[in-house]
Amino acid sequence: SAPVITVDGPSGAGKGTISHKLADRLDWGFLDSGALYRVTGQACLIEGVSWDDVDAVTEIARHLDVSFASAANGEVLVAYKGQDVSRAIRTEEGGRGASTVAAIPSVREALLARQRDFRQPPGLVADGRDMGTVVFPDAPLKFFLTASAEERARRRYKQLISKGESVSLPRLLEDIKERDARDSSRSVSPLVPAGDAIVIDSTATSIDQVFDQVMQKVRE
Ligand code: C5P
Repeated sequence: SAPVITVDGPSGAGKGTISHKLADRLDWGFLDSGALYRVTGQACLIEGVSWDDVDAVTEIARHLDVSFASAANGEVLVAYKGQDVSRAIRTEEGGRGASTVAAIPSVREALLARQRDFRQPPGLVADGRDMGTVVFPDAPLKFFLTASAEERARRRYKQLISKGESVSLPRLLEDIKERDARDSSRSVSPLVPAGDAIVIDSTATSIDQVFDQVMQKVRE
């Protein structure tokens, strides 16, 4: 089957930027697995289902009517039942919903086949938490990007401020630490690097430098 490069790590470690750029450079497909969990959380809000209602959330994940499209400006448009949810899923609330529903084993199971369907020629760059461990364990090249919680909070802060959202840095840091704890302690697919992943810490390096490191490995 088609080759896959997995890019895993905690939020704010630069995964999104790196994996998008990599997919562009290689002209491969791209899977934003976090968006699937975010849309599941958003669909719950739209359908009036509580994030804690395991059976109802699982039903939603099983039948998730989601579509991805590229806008002219290169941005990715995400739609649920044809309704644009691109903005809504990127808010802090969207992140909380995603990580809450992502802790439900049957939800992860329901989204598994959908994620694997993205594996198509000439290749796929898969961005997430468990791409290298669970979804594509046979991927020939795996990266795990990380950075300190403080640095990730600063990056997220800059990003949100530039979008005109009003946020507090201490609050963001708290959110990130909380989400890290939830993501790494859950019973299914905890956030850990695959045994054969290349771990890159970007706390003190620019995203451009990380991308150069990644490209070097890809060429090898
Ligand atoms: O990557 P992103 O921040 O969009 O992911 C949102 C949330 O979805 C994460 O905090 C995590 O809880 C969950 N997630 C996951 N497994 C993935 C991708 C995301 O559990 N492969």
